[in-house]
Amino acid sequence: GSCLYQIQAHFIDNNAILPEAISVVSQLNRAGFKAYIVGGGVRDLIIGEEPKDFDVTTNATPNQICKVVKNCQRRIIGRRFKIVHCVFGQRDSQVIIEVATFRSNEENDSGRVSAGDTGMLTRDNSYGDSIEEDSKRRDYSINALYYSPKSHVIYDFHGGYYDILKGNIDMIGDPQVRIHEDPARIIRAYRFAAKLGFRITDRTMKGFEGNFSLIRNINSSRLFEEVNKFFLSGYGYRSFKILMESGIMKLFLTEHGVVFNSDYFNGFIGESLKRSDMRHRQGKPNMPAFLYAVLLWPLVNSMLNKLRTAPGFVHSSERSLIDLIGAKVIASQMSITNFPNMVQEIIMEIWRLQADLDSGLDGADNADHVLANKFFRAAVDFMRLRAFMDDSLQEACDSWQEDYEVQSALAVLRRRSRGK
Ligand code: ATP
Ligand code: MG
Repeated sequence: GSCLYQIQAHFIDNNAILPEAISVVSQLNRAGFKAYIVGGGVRDLIIGEEPKDFDVTTNATPNQICKVVKNCQRRIIGRRFKIVHCVFGQRDSQVIIEVATFRSNEENDSGRVSAGDTGMLTRDNSYGDSIEEDSKRRDYSINALYYSPKSHVIYDFHGGYYDILKGNIDMIGDPQVRIHEDPARIIRAYRFAAKLGFRITDRTMKGFEGNFSLIRNINSSRLFEEVNKFFLSGYGYRSFKILMESGIMKLFLTEHGVVFNSDYFNGFIGESLKRSDMRHRQGKPNMPAFLYAVLLWPLVNSMLNKLRTAPGFVHSSERSLIDLIGAKVIASQMSITNFPNMVQEIIMEIWRLQADLDSGLDGADNADHVLANKFFRAAVDFMRLRAFMDDSLQEACDSWQEDYEVQSALAVLRRRSRGK
């Protein structure tokens, strides 16, 4: 069998683990089941980062989990492979602990894993009965550590603890096989590289080489989620640099999408990402729509310019031009990252508002309408980013900003007088 390290992990402070996760594990333990905290939560505890979420894995089946774990709502989710969401607390302060039964990718009574023509897993799971087996289906060694809060022991089958100390991102198993099974693993490696400042190991990189285009096979809704994780949660700028250097960025964007030169890189997109990283640190939300409005703008803008200077072009309103081109760009982007309708509409709104903002208060016959627009604030922020590329916009930005502040002061006054 494979090498097993047991690490007496008294350096992990159980108080840093959500009490709900501890509770789930100990209820399962008391009922005689094995249960561990696993994955990114353990990784982040060792590094000293605040874990985003805690996943629990156990040899109890979903039905057994539901029976044993009390004081929360239990929801069985998933189609092919069922897992249990243990939902603690009320709507506004919910904590969800994901509990999964050990899995196995090996042959067992319910059949053999079949990789289809593309090598992608068509049925990647059946229950397993040990963490050693379960660990093999995980992606990187740093994500395959199992921690028992009761005994303070970390179980490590792939040298993940060493890799955390070394800052290595190392694929479990044959990297080339594993990325053919699930190309999203490539993206995950780069995400951990950006987030943790770790380095992808040479053997893992070798498996990636020549295979980056597999990223295009990722389901477009899933890719949308993955891309969001890069750019909306506090390390967008670092991600962008790494993704540009490695040539992956262009795979996230529509065919003719990457028209950014270094000006765009440093100014418009770079600044935008620095700002959203800052917003994240301040606890403010980042909208996917704003991100895509930014990422796709270089393309929209260059198409606008081409069209305007095309021979025989008959001028129509700036708004209708943006409508026309924006819709085309969004449609082609959707085949790569499929975003919800709502996101689509907000992107268009931010772009359209640029035409209004550009023409200024006097020019916009619908100035009140512009000011009342729900996305006015976002549109002015967007214009400010454009000003990094075009100084002449600066003045207009300031003036709109003033209008915005007057507006919101009035709104506050109105609300107060209504309250009285
Ligand atoms: P994050 O900090 O983004 O939450 P994470 O490693 O916890 O990182 P999750 O998506 O929460 O990522 O997944 C939890 C665990 O499930 C991972 O740590 C890993 O062990 C396993 N896992 C997730 N996605 C994959 C995948 N595509 N292939 C193999 N294992 C995966
Ligand atoms: Mg996680």
